[in-house]
Order: sequence, then structure tokens, then C-alpha cells
Amino acid sequence: MKNYLKHDEWCIIEEGFHADWNEITESVMSLGNGRMGQRGNFEEGYSGKTLPGNYVAGVYFPDKTRVGWWKNGYPNYFAKVINAANWIGIQIELEDEKLDLANCHVHEFRRTLNMKEGWLSRSFVAMLPSGKQVGVTAKRFCSLTHDEGGVIRYCIKPLNFDGKLTIMPYIDGTISNRDSNYDQKFWQEIHRETGFAEGYLHLTTVPNEYGVPQFEVVTGQKFSLYKDGASFPFQALPVKQEGFVSSRIQLDVIAGEEIALIKYACNLSDQNHAREDLLAHAKTYLATMAEKGYEQLLREQIEAWAQKWQQMDIVIEGDVAAQQAIRFNLFQLSQTYTGEDDRLNIGPKGFTGEKYGGVTYWDTEAYCIPFYLSTAEPKVARNLLIYRWKQLGKAIENAEKLGFTGGAALYPMVTMNGEECHNEWEITFEEIHRNGAIAYAIYDYIRYTGDTAYLGEYGFEVLLGIARFWSQRITWSDERQQFVMLGVTGPNEYENNVNNNWYTNYIARWCLQYTLEVADQLKTAEAERYATLSQQLQLNEEAEFGRFQAIIDQLYLPESKELGVFLQQDSYLDKEQILVTDLRPEDRPLNQKWSWDRILRSPFIKQADVLQGLYFFEDQFEEATIRQNYDYYEPRTVHESSLSPCVHAILASRLGMDDKAYEMYLRTSRLDLDDYNNDTEDGLHITSMAGTWMSVVKGFGGLRVNDGQLHLSPRCPEQWQSYSFTIRFRDNILNVHVRPDGTVIENMAGDELTVWVQGESRSIPAAVVEAPEEE
Ligand code: BGC
Repeated sequence: MKNYLKHDEWCIIEEGFHADWNEITESVMSLGNGRMGQRGNFEEGYSGKTLPGNYVAGVYFPDKTRVGWWKNGYPNYFAKVINAANWIGIQIELEDEKLDLANCHVHEFRRTLNMKEGWLSRSFVAMLPSGKQVGVTAKRFCSLTHDEGGVIRYCIKPLNFDGKLTIMPYIDGTISNRDSNYDQKFWQEIHRETGFAEGYLHLTTVPNEYGVPQFEVVTGQKFSLYKDGASFPFQALPVKQEGFVSSRIQLDVIAGEEIALIKYACNLSDQNHAREDLLAHAKTYLATMAEKGYEQLLREQIEAWAQKWQQMDIVIEGDVAAQQAIRFNLFQLSQTYTGEDDRLNIGPKGFTGEKYGGVTYWDTEAYCIPFYLSTAEPKVARNLLIYRWKQLGKAIENAEKLGFTGGAALYPMVTMNGEECHNEWEITFEEIHRNGAIAYAIYDYIRYTGDTAYLGEYGFEVLLGIARFWSQRITWSDERQQFVMLGVTGPNEYENNVNNNWYTNYIARWCLQYTLEVADQLKTAEAERYATLSQQLQLNEEAEFGRFQAIIDQLYLPESKELGVFLQQDSYLDKEQILVTDLRPEDRPLNQKWSWDRILRSPFIKQADVLQGLYFFEDQFEEATIRQNYDYYEPRTVHESSLSPCVHAILASRLGMDDKAYEMYLRTSRLDLDDYNNDTEDGLHITSMAGTWMSVVKGFGGLRVNDGQLHLSPRCPEQWQSYSFTIRFRDNILNVHVRPDGTVIENMAGDELTVWVQGESRSIPAAVVEAPEEE
């Protein structure tokens, strides 16, 4: 765990340059706007520890699967969001010396991520090896209002010399991924051109053998220069280099004089523009941005972020570290996904690193949907559901590859376009609980929004495909005289190929049940649509629903009556029963310190597994059952998935274990800021950030929706004076302010509403609509 970033309510601040932790800080200081994003790299380049990262949403490469031993059914490729052209580049030379902080004495260094206004700044004084000193201040943002663009203001001042300053704003397309096989490059140039103070690089991804379309992106730059605030004439010589666009500007400068460069940049992809228009559109895009100018774009940025904060902010009084952390999570999540485009999804690292390849996991359904349901218009969560509906055909193909038939659908563990991209058999073939989360998200969406029309339009098809998969994957055991599910990996990836993982069995059974319920509802409410769907999907109700029901009635769910707990899997109790407290600090995190073999044989649990099920299906269990399972499993859980602490925080709050809930909250909310799992340098844990939001709103706030009504059971952690959050529920927007002495709920929009607080109904008066001012 590290603690070098300053605590502040709205900003993340690094004071003094921590070169050894630069890759961590780069992840933390990432910027994005839903369409593009980047790590907090230095504009002038850096030869020290750095992971350059620029990403364009939806643009990926199918990288050949290379494994030691091929297994039938493995996907041919791993889709990865690739490092795209670096648009922030501004090379600086003083006489013949390049400015590179790795070779300088650096002082007064400060890097600030301003979450309220959505920008990143950096300032420092550097002494170069020759003794020349310069002061630099830089500020940049990925624009929310021009979401294919970004802007940088880079100011440099010679402090102790007069001489030549060379500035080279550039776009570099000669980039690669750190994780590419054999340093393969994913991009090649189609066209490049440089005009006066502007340049464009048109790249395409290299061909692939898997039928994935090649993507084309034009990255452009346009810039202007100012001396002590005023524009001045300068010459810019084009630099000729393959895959690289730049202009070289040489200036004679004197000590104390400030040169400012404003650079507008854009990334236009063929996902949003016709290929033949890309270049022309990039030119007009930048012309519009430049015409508006830096100050205006910044004002728009601040305004756009203010609107976002109004919808989602969580205010915590009396604990700056907690306040900073929750805002950091909300900020990074909002930079990653804006909900505008149903082709996009939320990669576990968003735009902040290469790990997990920017692809979609079950994280979206299990963790992110609740956040978007409460903080954005329903269409955002709906778009995420439609993303999976569109991929149903591929999920059916995926199941067919594994030997399933008759429209059974197995959604991939990781995907970009619906095809499975994961190639570890124990996860690809066995971590099938992901199918359950996709069905659960449909249920969650309907329960929250009341939009039952979704079921007939899209939902039922997905549910039936998933249910068909379970009904074939679950088999009959003569020995037990019950149905069983063999050879799976539960959410706890620290054991594989187990039989009867309680969570997977439970959610599979629930899916079958829910599918039958939805079929019944549709039969009554939308008989015609149901008849059409039945025909389209070749549903044999009697045979298929008969089998669903048989499984529901007779599925085996392992439990230990003696311990009073559900068993994570059939042979969990055969494992040596030691606890996390028996581990030495030097053994943690296990996944970095122990061999995989040792981990698999140990009883240690990576993330909520049985408890994930108790969280999803809380209302189906007695409180005492939840408590007993919590008390049993939490001491065995190492929380080495970022998705773990939030589920524990919610359950601990529900059980009144306030200290535990708070401990888990801190762990989830400051996971990246304090580098708890020693892996922030790979990128941020974006999807688990939604879990942090859940820890506050569903955990401390106790938000639940039952029978179409909103329920809260707020508790105020004793470390906080108070906290408040804003949520949407159906046609209302509510602000909930929780203090130790009570909860105040204010209707910000919508009619009078009944809310249940600690089990008692409260009528919240309609929002006060301000009368328009009289003329
Ligand atoms: C977790 C998975 C998760 C994935 C991406 C893994 O470490 O075990 O549950 O889906 O990370 O966040």
C-alpha cells in the first residue's frame, strides 16, 4: 500500500516527482471522455519508467492466441484495445539538449488531476545536464463536448539562459503495445500530411486472419504559439518520417520569456465516420475546436463536468480521504463510459492501461449496471443490455463450438464483438457463471425501471438462450438422484474444475426460474409477441420448460448442515482450513507470491463467491443465514480481485457490521489511489469503481427496490459527519442526506413519491418547480 498522493476533496495531487511510481501515477491521472482516453504520460516524452497509453473506444486488434498447448474450443484470437497514436507529443529541445525529466534535476514538480473540472495539469522546474533551467506548466483535457478531441496548453520558460528553443508538436503512430506478441505492431500508415501548424496521420490496423474488420483512425493536430500571452509570427518546418507527423519550430528565447503552445488534437475513427471522409472531417473538427479556442473549450469542459457531478456526486463530510476516493471512482467511471453508444462497453481497465485488453467482462452486468441505473437515464443501462442482445447470435455460436445445441447461448468471458477471446480453459470453458449475471442484469433493470416492455422486445430471447445453456450444462447424477453441475470455476478463480459451485448452481437455477416467470408474464401481457417469439426461437415449451422445471426442483446445492453454511463447492471442506490471519504479510498478495499450484490447493478465496450469491439474492435468505456465511467466508477471502471488497462492504452494512463495512469501503474506494493490490501501474480497476459507488449507496445507504418501491436503510459510518447521494428512480431524482440523527430526502425532480426508510413509509413531496421569472 502506498500513500504518496495528497488528500484533497476534488483533486488528486502528486507533489514532488516519484519517478519509481510514475506508472502508478500515470494510471491514476488518466483522462477520458467515453470516446477516447489516455494515461497521464508526459507531453515532452520520458525515457524513465513509463507506460505510454492512448486508446480509441471500440478500436481493437484480434491478436493471435499463442498458448503452450492448444485445446479444442479455444478462441483463435484475443481482442485487445490497442495503444493508438500518441497525440499529446510535444518534443522540447534547448539548444541541442532534449528535455527529458529522466535526465534532469527536477524540482517544484506537481501533477494534479482536477476531477471537478476534468483536466490534468503538471508544473515543474527542470535543470538539464548542461545546467540550463526551464519552468514548465502544462494542462490538458479530453473534451466532453467535443468527444473526439482533446486540448493541451503547454508553457515553457527559460529561467537562466537565452538561446534556441525547439518545439516539435507531434503525433506518433509508431507505437506498440507492451503486451503484444513478439513486439508486433498493430498499426500501419495509409496517409500523412503536414500543413502550417497542423498535421494528420491516417492509420489502419494491420490485416488479420480472423475476419475482424481493419479499423482506420485519423489523428490530427493543430496548434498555435504565444510569446508572453501574445501571438507572433513563426515558421514551422514539416518533419518527414514514416508513421509520424510533426512540425519543427525554432525560436530564439530570452530568460524569463514564456512561450505557450496550444495544441488541439482529434481521433476520428471509421466507427463513426465514413472512411473516405475521415481526413476531411478531422480537418473541420480541429478547425472548429481551434476557432472556439482553449479558454472556451475549457469553460465548456467545466460546465459539462458540473452537470455530470450534479447527477452523481456523493458528498462525504468529515473524511477527506473517503471524499476524494469516492469522487475519484465516480470520475474515472464517467470518463470511461457515457452510455451514448450501444456498441461500446466498459473494459475492466477502461482507457487506463493494456491489461484485460479493454474487453467486456461480467463486471458490466454484475457491478456497473446498478451504478448507471441510479445515476443516469434508463437508456444508459438499456444500451448495455442491448449490447448483449446484439451479441446473442455469437453467444449461440460460442456454445455450439463447445458442443451445445438448440439455441443454447454461452456468453463469452471476455469479448469485444461477441466472440470469446479468453484462452485459459479453466476460465473460457468453466467460468460460466457469467451467463447468470447477464440474465440477472435484465432482472435488475426491469426491477429498477419498471420497463417490462424490454422483456418482449429483447430480454426474453437472451433469457431463453441462457436458460437453454443451463439446461444442457446441468446433468443428472444417478448417485445423488439430483441434478449436478460438474467442472466449473466459480467467481473464486483460486480453484478450478470444481463440482457444484454453490453460486453457479444457484444462479443457474434462478435463471431457469426467471425465464419461466417471464414466459408466463409475456403469455398474459403480450400473447401475440410471445407466439411470434416462440416460433422464431423454435421453442418446444413442453419438453424444454418441463426440463427447466425438473432442474429447478431437483438441483443439488452443496451445504454443510453442521457448519450452517452453503459450501463453495463439493470438496471445499477437504481443504486445509487455515485463515487469512494465518498468512504472513510477506505471502500477500498470494497471486504475486505463491505458485499457482499452491493457490489452487489452498482454501483462500480470491473474491466473493457464495457471498456474491447472497448479495444478489439477499431477499431469498434469512439474515442469520447471510451472517453465518459471511462470518465463515470473509476470514478466508484475500480480496485479490478488486470486485471483492464492495460486495463484502454491502453485506457487512446489511448485517450491521459497521467497522467491517467501513474497512471494506476504504479498501474498494482507495484501491487504486493507495495501490492496495500492488497493480495500479497496469491501469485502474474501472469496473470495480461501480462497486465502490454500490458500497456507499447500497451499503451504507441500504438502497433496495422491492415491488417497484424504493427502500433505504441508511447508516452513517462513525468516521463521517454525514454523507449525501443523488439517485434517479423512475421519474424522480432524489437527494438523500444521511446524518447520524436521521435521513433527509429531497425530491429534486418529479412528483410526490413514497420511499421506505428503515421499513417505514415516508411521503416525499413533489419537487419544487421554480416559477419562470416574470417579464
Ligand atoms: C476477476 C474476475 C473479473 C476480471 C475482470 C478477475 O481478476 O476474478 O471476476 O471479471 O478480473 O475484472
